[in-house]
Amino acid sequence: MNKTFAVIGLGRFGGSVAQTLDSMGYEVLAVDRNPQRVQDMAQIVTHAIEADSTDEHALKAMGIRNFDVVVIAIGDDIQSSILTTLILKEMGVKKIVVKAVNELHGKVLYKIGADRVVFPERDMGVRLVHNLISPNILDYVELSKDYSIVEILAGDFFKGKTLQELDIRARFGCNVMAIKSGEKFNIAPAATDVIHEGDLLIVIGHNDHLKKLQEQAYGNE
Ligand code: ADP
Repeated sequence: MNKTFAVIGLGRFGGSVAQTLDSMGYEVLAVDRNPQRVQDMAQIVTHAIEADSTDEHALKAMGIRNFDVVVIAIGDDIQSSILTTLILKEMGVKKIVVKAVNELHGKVLYKIGADRVVFPERDMGVRLVHNLISPNILDYVELSKDYSIVEILAGDFFKGKTLQELDIRARFGCNVMAIKSGEKFNIAPAATDVIHEGDLLIVIGHNDHLKKLQEQAYGNE
């Protein structure tokens, strides 16, 4: 059976989470204390309810405990965000994901039992900087402090060569997981597959090794 989701706080972030879940075919309960936000979201998702999430009775009445995941996307009202997390935790919600606006807020959320804390602004900032520093890195996902997945645009260094010729694993210690060529996605690239200019290479590795590959491929562009 499909997972069920509730999203509390329908600002830009929560609204986007709710809308994306809905477009992927999931059932979403959207909650906000602002009637206008609820009305706007009611056109999009399965259920939209006006309620203050710091009101335990209101949360109980909507059966929030039965949802598999509850996303708390309350922005600047830190008090509301913390109280809501605490109430949901005490009610026994299985998985609580909360948006934090800063590190301290995030720390408090973990302490009171949030299962996952996200920092959309901070994370987006980090990704943007990676892209600004190296325009050939189109996207970047941090797996841990040391390991990442990057999307590298294939330029002169790669063009017309096979993975075997490039020998990326032995020379740089990273792995090409997939090659995107136009609309085509090759998710199990063979050693003999030829890379074309403009292809996107999805590469996983240690940050130091990824940096080495990038420097070799693009110098200090
Ligand atoms: P963003 O930065 O993602 O746009 P906002 O701060 O604009 O975030 O949006 C947060 C939303 O959370 C607002 O729509 C606000 O009405 C809602 N919200 C804040 N506190 C509560 C609460 N206690 N109960 C329900 N909704 C709340």
